[in-house]
Amino acid sequence: QFLSSPSKSGSRILPRKTEHDITESSSDLGHPQTVLDGLPVLKKAKGHYWYPTKGPKILDACGGAAVACLGHGRRDIVKAVTAQMESYTYASYAHFQTTPVQELSDWLTKSTGGQMQKVYVMCSGSEAIEAALKLSVEYFRWKGEPERVNFIARLDSYHGTTLGSLSVSGHHTRREPFHPLLSPTHFHHIPACNPYREDTTTTTTTTTSPTSLSTYLSHKTAQLEAAFTHLGPHTVAAVVLEPVVGAALACMPAPAGYLAAMKAVCARHGALLVLDEVMCGMGRTGWGVVPDLQAVAKGFAGGYVPASALLVGGKVAGLMEREGRVFTHGHTYQNHPVVAAAALAVQRAVEREGLLGNVRVQGELLGRLLRERLGAHPNVGDVRGRGLFWGVEFVKDRGTKEPFEPGLGVAERVQKAAVREFKVLVYHGQGCAGGGRGDHIMIMPAYTISAKLVAEIVERVAGAIEEVFRRL
Ligand code: PMP
Repeated sequence: QFLSSPSKSGSRILPRKTEHDITESSSDLGHPQTVLDGLPVLKKAKGHYWYPTKGPKILDACGGAAVACLGHGRRDIVKAVTAQMESYTYASYAHFQTTPVQELSDWLTKSTGGQMQKVYVMCSGSEAIEAALKLSVEYFRWKGEPERVNFIARLDSYHGTTLGSLSVSGHHTRREPFHPLLSPTHFHHIPACNPYREDTTTTTTTTTSPTSLSTYLSHKTAQLEAAFTHLGPHTVAAVVLEPVVGAALACMPAPAGYLAAMKAVCARHGALLVLDEVMCGMGRTGWGVVPDLQAVAKGFAGGYVPASALLVGGKVAGLMEREGRVFTHGHTYQNHPVVAAAALAVQRAVEREGLLGNVRVQGELLGRLLRERLGAHPNVGDVRGRGLFWGVEFVKDRGTKEPFEPGLGVAERVQKAAVREFKVLVYHGQGCAGGGRGDHIMIMPAYTISAKLVAEIVERVAGAIEEVFRRL
């Protein structure tokens, strides 16, 4: 039986299917987290397109969840992965060092100019965040500060699906069913950094005037300071932040100076700064603040294999080196050679092909075209983003910024219209207005996207949005 996500009346059980039944159907029961009716069945994916078993190809404007940074089906990456598999498919990190992990580690250290000195290779973003939480605590035990066991994160954030990473997340809807299991003691949430919905002088964009920006930054600094005071500064191990908030706030970038201000507060109180760059990192957005620990995934290996990593900065790696400390942590598949080979091949391709330059150029174009095409739509509250990471937030009323009722499923309607009628895949979500309210879509194409395809994405997405609101 296929089990859907819980509905209001509890979990829905759908009838058992035969292989013959698993084809595209017109039913609307689909939920992105499960295999259900209504989702197309995939035959292949190549470049910027998905090819379902039935119907025309679908333009990929989101790479799944910002994963496919190189597009689909690249032979060079497949070759690198299979070459590694032909040498050896698995080796336990407890028994062997492996060349792919060593090379990846060297590449990461070099490409960060030595800022990141150690890497733990894993398979999912949640694992990387779990490792960041645990390493923060263990680091302070090594330092003789075992009372540092608390974390500060933000509301309207998402850091993962496992219990530790969900505890640090401020995502209302994803936490809600598991509330009793999420530690309230060690995870403290401060308000999100959401210039669109906070009381600043901002209008429909995240740009602020210099005066209002400095006032805003002082206000955000005071909120973080208050959390340190509340918990006792000497009990805080780390502050965990997404530099550009993904699934919870639809590509919300922090205003200039925000991350540096948060880092300064951490430094003042001796706590670590953990940046969750699982969705926005590995070249998709880019900013200038170096954290103590950095979690990456998605674009790390571009979806060719399940891959993530925890990168460790000089402060923590230095102490480990000096004192010969070993992190008490290890998944069976940690430092998997095939994962490392895939990530290395993807990162070398990004570098070799100068794709970060393309991210900048096409990202600016994407943002400009989205704003031109949708900025005046009565139900588009905000268009925001950075690099190739753009979100569109829908509102009932642009003046009051009132969100739609969650039950209307506006974001899901847009996603479905986009894929079914306009043949473009976007990522959708709810909760960007806080407390489970608010609808958005996210547009996050591969770094290899062309200007022509950027324009086509915007036209198709705008068509879907206009169509959905015409019907509503
Ligand atoms: N952090 C962020 C910012 C994410 O966006 C996600 C996944 N969307 C995660 C952590 C968890 O990653 P995963 O789903 O690979 O466990």
